[in-house]
Amino acid sequence: MAKKVGVYICKGCGIGEALDVDALAKVASKEYKAPVVKTCDVLCAPEGIELIKQDLAGEGVNLVVIAGCSARVNYDHFDFGPEILVERVNLREQVVWTQPPDDEDTQMMAEDYMRMTLAKTKNLELPEPFIGENLSKAILVVGGGLAGMTAALEAANAGHQVILVEKESALGGWLNKVYKIAPLAAPFTELQDPDVEARVQAINDNPRIKVYTGATIASTAGAPGMFDVTINTAGGEVTERVGAIVLATGARPYDPEKLGHLGYGQFADVITQAQLEELVKAEGKVVRPSSKEEAVKVAFIQCAGSRDPEHLPYCSAACCVESIKQALYVKEQNPEAAVYVFYKDIRSSGQYEHFYKQAQMQGVVFVKADVESIEEGEGGKLAVNAQDLMMGAPTLLDEVDVVVLANGMVPSTLVDENLPPEEQTRILNLKYRQGPELPTLKYGFPDSHFICFPYETRRTGIYAAGSVRRPMDMLQAVEDATGAALKAIQCVEMTARGMAVHPRSGDLSFPEFMMSRCTQCKRCTEECPFGAINEDEKANPLPNPTRCRRCGTCMGACPERIISFKNYSVPMIGNMVKAIEVPEEDEEKPRVLIFACENDAIPALDMAGINRLNYSKWVRIIPVRCLGSLNLVWVNDAMSKGIDGVLLLGCKHGDDYQCHFMKGSELAGIRLSKVSETLDRLGLESERVQMEEVSIMDYDKIPGIIERFIEKIEEFGPNPMKGF
Ligand code: SF4
Ligand code: SF4
Repeated sequence: MAKKVGVYICKGCGIGEALDVDALAKVASKEYKAPVVKTCDVLCAPEGIELIKQDLAGEGVNLVVIAGCSARVNYDHFDFGPEILVERVNLREQVVWTQPPDDEDTQMMAEDYMRMTLAKTKNLELPEPFIGENLSKAILVVGGGLAGMTAALEAANAGHQVILVEKESALGGWLNKVYKIAPLAAPFTELQDPDVEARVQAINDNPRIKVYTGATIASTAGAPGMFDVTINTAGGEVTERVGAIVLATGARPYDPEKLGHLGYGQFADVITQAQLEELVKAEGKVVRPSSKEEAVKVAFIQCAGSRDPEHLPYCSAACCVESIKQALYVKEQNPEAAVYVFYKDIRSSGQYEHFYKQAQMQGVVFVKADVESIEEGEGGKLAVNAQDLMMGAPTLLDEVDVVVLANGMVPSTLVDENLPPEEQTRILNLKYRQGPELPTLKYGFPDSHFICFPYETRRTGIYAAGSVRRPMDMLQAVEDATGAALKAIQCVEMTARGMAVHPRSGDLSFPEFMMSRCTQCKRCTEECPFGAINEDEKANPLPNPTRCRRCGTCMGACPERIISFKNYSVPMIGNMVKAIEVPEEDEEKPRVLIFACENDAIPALDMAGINRLNYSKWVRIIPVRCLGSLNLVWVNDAMSKGIDGVLLLGCKHGDDYQCHFMKGSELAGIRLSKVSETLDRLGLESERVQMEEVSIMDYDKIPGIIERFIEKIEEFGPNPMKGF
């Protein structure tokens, strides 16, 4: 496509007063020969938009450069349709709101940003969407419990075909095993019937839902929009094509055999919450398991395993409400029965505070205590020894009929490390080069970004809902399933239009490989955080564009630099680096280049501007999709050009990560260690290139981070490569 650039410089929001806008326009028209360069008092106002539209129609401009506010704002104003490329020069948040007005260095900064953006546009091309073949908008839901049935109904009611697969012979999951459930509706005080039949009926009555019970997934191949799922059923294998998958396989109770210190396995009347449900369903009331006599004194032990570094370090979230419910079983059958709940903290969040109060009103006694042991007393009854944390003294509850352990939950995706790989539970059996199941975090939850993208897993188009995603109660599971169903719908709809899902929602670009120069090094297949790249038998990468989240990690990884996007590539960013004007050493104007991740670091930099926080005039900022896309050649280019230091601003990584592409900032850190070796060899201080983790809320720390880095660079003195 032949490009015709139009540069539009806004004078609003203080830009016109702080900068010499005419000089800026000259950079575009004289240095970069932009054919159309205009200034405007308020570019986002109707007259500004009209000015641009006239040039699109009359002048044939098809690449619009907006020099004004951050690309994070007013993007809807500056959207001129899919045929028009738009690039932004951030003069407002990153220049005039952080730098002194009418100042030589502020002007130099603005002119550099103009040069950098225009240099980038040289290689910029209009992305052409990838549209797969035989795309499906059907949604597969795996797991027919409360979350799975809810997700299936929500997706079907929104007009999508749904395939629901349940490994048991009937739908219902945990609901089939319980006597009653905690209330799911106001006033949140009464026990509720699980109502399994009505829920299953709603599924069976819905013509858009096809159900396979007693079925498991034999294999899942393909990609969003084109998953081919082979299902093992009683009648043989069937294959269904679906566009997205909701995993709602729930959780299982934490292994009570590990709770011997609380008497489990030692005393028949120490049971788990799940066993109490079975008992009440079988007997119609709470009885002592050992004698089947009606229980009149029952103790519940909360956090039995949960919030315990020796067992489950996390809160299992649902057990407090479950114990309150089971305490009410006892009170319902005998209001005079003595019921005690030993707890660390009662976590009956949200509306369940009413349920907690109801139990207190019914006479359930809540004791904040550390339970130390369970012992057998007279007549085979049990004694609970605890430290009462309110009274600061030991307490003893004896003659207890039944002790119920709230033993928490582990996700169904948790790998049992005691089992060999071939005996591990397999759910999706993915045909991905990167492994057959969803990658999980340290506790086994298949999370991808718990802060920004709930429901996401690290496999695009596969969403987790309910307690497989994180511990949660039934009320939360219903909401969660609805959210995951909506995400699955968003995925199939975006995929059908060739667009990325979050976080780069709507991006039409995808990585393209110049295969003739590929050395089959496998770096891209190994480093892609989302398993988007398979490989053939000769180790050639086989990209799956609809699995791709457009992070650019493969682009950063490729040593041959043969992976690029139409609107983001190694040469594009390289041109930006090369466009920065580096003053001579005697001018004493150092230059520091910042590669800032667009997910948190760029918003934090913008917020620093919005809050008018001043930071160093020596910096030049280049936004990157993710630090994982950092190609080391950019750092080499910067250092050999005489730039004095390079700072990488990215997200926190590790298990409590915040990196939006999972591994990007971690991989950048690994690559950085290699740069340090190179710098050492060149006789340049390795600390001239550094990485800092920032979150969006660290905006107020940005000036300090930059100042400290610049102080260090000034101690080293100018980069000796200046002028070469
Ligand atoms: S690394 Fe990122 S950009 Fe590359 S294929 Fe994987 S998801 Fe797509
Ligand atoms: S990283 Fe580059 S050279 Fe290596 S396999 Fe991937 S495309 Fe080929």
